[in-house]
Amino acid sequence: MKLTVPHMGLLSMAYTKVLREHGVQMHPPPRPTKKTLNLGVRHSPEYACLPFKINLGNMIEALEEGVDSILMPGGYGPCRFGYYGVIQAEILKGLGYRFQMARTDNPDSLSDMIKTIKDISDIETKWDAYRVFYLILIRMAAFDKLEALYFKTKPREINNGETDRAFREGLKIIEDATSYTSLLRAWLKVKRIFRDVKTDKRARPLRIGILGEIFVVIEPFANMDVERRLARMGVEVVRGVWLSDWLNDRFRFKPFRPNQNKMAKKWAYPYLRYPSGGESIESVGKTIKFYKEGIDGVIHIMPFTCMPELVASTILHRISSDLNYPVLSLTFDEHVSEANLQTRLEAFVDLLERRRKKGGL
Ligand code: SF4
Repeated sequence: MKLTVPHMGLLSMAYTKVLREHGVQMHPPPRPTKKTLNLGVRHSPEYACLPFKINLGNMIEALEEGVDSILMPGGYGPCRFGYYGVIQAEILKGLGYRFQMARTDNPDSLSDMIKTIKDISDIETKWDAYRVFYLILIRMAAFDKLEALYFKTKPREINNGETDRAFREGLKIIEDATSYTSLLRAWLKVKRIFRDVKTDKRARPLRIGILGEIFVVIEPFANMDVERRLARMGVEVVRGVWLSDWLNDRFRFKPFRPNQNKMAKKWAYPYLRYPSGGESIESVGKTIKFYKEGIDGVIHIMPFTCMPELVASTILHRISSDLNYPVLSLTFDEHVSEANLQTRLEAFVDLLERRRKKGGL
């Protein structure tokens, strides 16, 4: 079995090496590119959301490279995600590909995840499968912490490019750590590397919160690298959606981290009482949180035709005018141009700088 899973940010780096050590022939697809998107767009229904198209393009690329099995999370809930795998399998079969598709029917269920790991690997006992699964989750959390460290350091760096080098080194160090003890050592090393990056301690960069649908937030190809564009413009990015938080809300592997979804529900309550799917409740709740924390403004990003985030986006306009708080909504699909995105980001940053000079918030 040569297995692939479509990309979603750094997720594949969290599991690939670990699963390979347990007999799984993991073959991640190439990182998404324009070619991936074109393939996905060509074979998807027009109304499908951007993650569906990028996933499908990635699957085609992997199948072309000789993969014979695909693993796709499934599930249920008030958005289309649960149907992705089923429809994608039909499309791929229609294109003549021969493969097996395994679906985790309920990605919220720990026993489902453990069963999937046991089924695809040479792991024999349930206990070992738990151990491996939790190691993958902790590796994911380490990658997320590395990105957060990057966002904090980059706008303060003195020597251009030093933070990017530290980040690349950190990725490699964490990726190579495939046991609990080596992961701890790896994290301490990453912290030392970032401590050595020369920064301006007096710098007070603008801080912008990034919220929205989880796939477009964490997959840089889907959002045209919006976070790094901002970081290069000297902005500190404060991301409000992390894959490790999403996983922690379900599997409680970070015992001291409060449940982010429950917290977001409390913050969102005056504007949105019931989640409408996707990350809608986080988008609304965390915008209010960011406002209270003095973050200069929020960028809300979502795929075109994403109903849950469209609900959130409508509410964010209301919050923005009620609180006099800058919120920029960005919608992504295959038609968005880089020049348009860059212009909108620069205009938003300009606005926030002028507000700050006038004593804005
Ligand atoms: S949250 Fe939106 S973009 Fe994400 S899968 Fe659901 S409908 Fe698609």
